Amino acid sequence: MIQTGCDGKNRRIAEAEDFEYTVEQFADLQLLRYKVKGFENLTLRQKELVYYLSQAALQGRDILFDQNGKYNLIIRKMLETVYTDYQGDRREADFMNMETYLKRVWFSNGIHHHYATDKFVPGFTPEFFKAALSSVDASRLPLAEGETLDGLCEEVFPVIFDPQLMPKRVNQADGEDLVQTSAAHYYEGVSQEEAEDFYQALKDPDDTMPVMFGMNSRLVKEGGKVVEKVWKSGGLYGQAIDRIVYWLDKALEVAENMQQKTVIEKLIQFYKNGDLKDFDAYSIAWVNDLDSHVDFVNGFIESYGDPLGLKASWESIVNFKDREATQRTETISANAQWFEDHSPVDQRFKKKKVKGVSAKVITAAMLGGDLYPATAIGINLPNSNWIRSVHGSKSVTIGNLTDAYNKAAHGNGFTDEFVYGAQEKEWIEKYADLTGDLHTDLHECLGHGSGQLLFGVDQDALKAYGATIEEARADLFGLYYLPDAKMLELGLVSDKDAFKAEYYTYMMNGLMTQLVRIELGRTVEEAHMRNRQLIARWAFQRGEADRVVEMIKKDGKTYVKINDYQKLRMYFGELLAEVQRIKSEGDFEAARRLVEEYAVKIDPVLHTEVLERYEKLHLAPYKGFVNPVYKAVTDKDGKIIDVEVSYKEGYAEQMLRYSNEFANLPYRNK
Ligand code: ZN
Repeated sequence: MIQTGCDGKNRRIAEAEDFEYTVEQFADLQLLRYKVKGFENLTLRQKELVYYLSQAALQGRDILFDQNGKYNLIIRKMLETVYTDYQGDRREADFMNMETYLKRVWFSNGIHHHYATDKFVPGFTPEFFKAALSSVDASRLPLAEGETLDGLCEEVFPVIFDPQLMPKRVNQADGEDLVQTSAAHYYEGVSQEEAEDFYQALKDPDDTMPVMFGMNSRLVKEGGKVVEKVWKSGGLYGQAIDRIVYWLDKALEVAENMQQKTVIEKLIQFYKNGDLKDFDAYSIAWVNDLDSHVDFVNGFIESYGDPLGLKASWESIVNFKDREATQRTETISANAQWFEDHSPVDQRFKKKKVKGVSAKVITAAMLGGDLYPATAIGINLPNSNWIRSVHGSKSVTIGNLTDAYNKAAHGNGFTDEFVYGAQEKEWIEKYADLTGDLHTDLHECLGHGSGQLLFGVDQDALKAYGATIEEARADLFGLYYLPDAKMLELGLVSDKDAFKAEYYTYMMNGLMTQLVRIELGRTVEEAHMRNRQLIARWAFQRGEADRVVEMIKKDGKTYVKINDYQKLRMYFGELLAEVQRIKSEGDFEAARRLVEEYAVKIDPVLHTEVLERYEKLHLAPYKGFVNPVYKAVTDKDGKIIDVEVSYKEGYAEQMLRYSNEFANLPYRNK
């Protein structure tokens, strides 16, 4: 999966629009809204399909809450009841801090941070919470049969208030029992060793088509024996799964074609019996469904939430193809050979015959489970290794979510703070969204696929520097071609100056602003960030004598200023040729020198300045989305005659509605 949401690569928009992309901000989080562009152009049948699949996408929400922690559903209900029913002072600090805590619990689908996985520290007291719980109608609280409020508080309060108890959702600390020290609810009463032994015993080393053992169950100890409780109809989470199946059955009736029908049927079969062979059959059918306009993921997919990487969290996304954006990637792919032939790379390192990778661009229509509210902007599935090698995988980028990130960044102060002058701001305002997308397309569709290794060169020759060099190669390929006349000729840009928006933001990001994501005193570690600094620093120093790019001070603040865009393009071409040579020849020493000299070290004075300027903008580093609302319009016989989409629902409003409408599981799932 591909993640984003950083403000380090900020862009602004050209057109003003009557659509509110930002919803609200609290703690370290910002909620955005995304627009389901093109929904109104779907056929009635496709709209119906999206509607049914969207219902299915929301029915599993409580599964994820329970997967993320045994007490999450109970705690959520206690908080929600106080939030809606409390008659005391809603402006006092305790109540308002509880509200923030609840909003964070909704966002994380549990009481641990969605990204860092640390348990939240509540900003309200147990005394306040107890009194507030006592003041509301007890029948609205998640009491077990015969349980008193005192009993409930005794059971649950330590989970909320004691920082020592369940401190991490996913513990990765080497040397500890990762299963027993992780709060995720994928195991109960078993040790890491018992879990590992259990799954080791199931593996057959001769099986060339192995299922992903353990991905759809909780592992528990019963009567001294380690057993799996499978998530399926009639099994654990069966109540929610039956609701998902109910809507999938409806979707089946309006499937677009036979292949998609097969996909849905196989998924239903898997949900009904929990057999992992059926899951593989579903995955294969899904990866082969390339013609359907509407597509979806619904199931137990990613295993980041399990310290052992076996158990898959529940998630869903419903989407349809963005024809216009996909056409852009198809145009680029169709001209792959031209780009390869005209690159500044030495002939020996070029591919005689290139094949562009066509990645589809999609529009998200609904997000659910582990893709909501925080989400991915790209998906590459299935995860099964043997299916990927035999049947391939589907790679998509989610256009309307990237778009929403970009548009929400408009006017957040970032560009005003860091961009040098009015001319640069104008280019960014007009073109940065488009040229940013184009750079990504060139990077993905052509950059990674270009060039070749000399005969006999080991593909891992660059070792730890390989990833940074590879990313630099793909980025440089895109940077080199953005100003090319070919881009105008293919109709990909309409103005010969458009590339300057990407050149400027790229240099500013690589030289300065991406540092906002790094703590003071540390170095650049992540491969993409290293690549960007490598390119920006190298080009900066290459043209330093001629002042091609400058770092200049204005009112005590540092700014990047580009004086000669054409020369900068030549430098990118020069570096592309060198980076391709390093890759093609497997020149480890040269890779090491390039990365260590340009990509790793940070000037502490500049770093401090950038962090201070960023801090003042009060931007939230993590973002998530509120979903649109679909309404089925029916005739007098109950037949759907249209599906309407609206974007008015607020964050708390949506979360409370979901907790109410999709309350499919008991508070305690055993
Ligand atoms: Zn890449």
